[in-house]
Amino acid sequence: MAGAPTAGIQKTIDDPRLQLAIYSATGRLVSHRAGSIRADLLPEYQELRTRAHELKRHTIDHLDHYLEQFESNVVAHAGKVIFCRDAQEVADFVLGLAKERHARLIVKSKSMTTEEIDFNERLEHHQLEAVETDLGEYILQLAHQRPYHIVAPALHMTRYDVAEVFTKSLGVEKEVEPENQTKIARAVLREKFLRADIGVTGANFLVADSGAVVVVENEGNARLTSSAPRIHIAIAGIEKVIPRAQDLAVYLNLLGRSATGQPLSVYTSFLSGPRRADDLDGPDEFYVILLDNGRTMLLVDPEKRESLFCIRCGACLNHCPVYRKIGGHNYPWIYSGPIGAIITPQFHGVMQHPWLPFASSLCGACAEVCPVKIDIPKVLLKLRAEVTEAKSREGKGGIERFAFRMFAWMMTHPKIYLPLASIGKKFLPVLPKLGPLGKWASQRELPKPASQSFHKWWADRQVR
Ligand code: SF4
Repeated sequence: MAGAPTAGIQKTIDDPRLQLAIYSATGRLVSHRAGSIRADLLPEYQELRTRAHELKRHTIDHLDHYLEQFESNVVAHAGKVIFCRDAQEVADFVLGLAKERHARLIVKSKSMTTEEIDFNERLEHHQLEAVETDLGEYILQLAHQRPYHIVAPALHMTRYDVAEVFTKSLGVEKEVEPENQTKIARAVLREKFLRADIGVTGANFLVADSGAVVVVENEGNARLTSSAPRIHIAIAGIEKVIPRAQDLAVYLNLLGRSATGQPLSVYTSFLSGPRRADDLDGPDEFYVILLDNGRTMLLVDPEKRESLFCIRCGACLNHCPVYRKIGGHNYPWIYSGPIGAIITPQFHGVMQHPWLPFASSLCGACAEVCPVKIDIPKVLLKLRAEVTEAKSREGKGGIERFAFRMFAWMMTHPKIYLPLASIGKKFLPVLPKLGPLGKWASQRELPKPASQSFHKWWADRQVR
């Protein structure tokens, strides 16, 4: 895979501690998911998936309508909606607001959309402090790393790694008990919550018919983020909109189960505008930033458009043999695994990382577990075809094309193929030792060639 970060991939594969961390964490998530969708517990599981897919298809096909409906309902609840084309527009809005309101400290709950636009780094350039409050994200912020996984961002770190990060960044004694580590983080973060001027959350869903921003989480930090500071900003991709509140029943039933195996995540918050006169808490100002950042480009192709159905559950990562081997940081962007392999090329252009759509065994496990039934292998094949076409336009890949044409020709001429195949059979055991092919074969177990060719077996069968 030319262009792939082979050194990083090799390092991950050769690190037994890291391999164990990835395998055991994803393995746990796989078995929890399997346990939660058992037919006796959720007999309507497949119908829910179909419904989730249809609803997303309908919404994405009528995105302009539902976004306008969502906007007018947010405004009706005294909130404001800001449409942003890209990361710069988001930063400009937040910086402008922070300046006007003399805000200095921002607390954030977990949001892949803000990771996508380097939100924290952009604000830090302007002396605004943005603090992650999800435990995993907080650890990564201290360690200056990007998320390893959509749902479990610090999946690759052991408690000993966390102890080192805390000691180095917070100056505390080395503490390896996860419960005590949580207490350390909580003490720091509580103080941040109390001082914060602005709270920023992402959104799992935007409900068009009520204008509610729905945030799903397990730690309760998104609740504090959205209720303690005087200003709340929710930042969401435009594809997060769903038509009606009742559609949530479909998605909430699927999201927790697919992500962590929970029938329902611990907290589901509905954020609908600033605090009313009789509310106990809540912000004085409420903004929703609807981010495009390339999403409208994905709308162009009706098949690839499916990529926008994703509800970021992470199930495709946990089941992907490639992700489970190479981990999250070897993918070029914050979206890793199968979903990363289909959306990154569409956001950045296929020739930016031409190897990415090929980083898949096409086993289909991702499509089988995806709660919204995105046909990831189909999109991968489309992207592969686009890479091949682009390469051919650039005059690249000639040798590969020639080799495959020769192979196709040989396969359709048995008189040539049969003698060559019997010679090739003899060379198969030494293949791992040969130059560039050796590198390819070193990561694969080559099957033993059959003692008898299919042609011979077929001919003998006819005689009998
Ligand atoms: S593509 Fe499907 S399985 Fe993968 S994260 Fe998105 S919703 Fe989950």
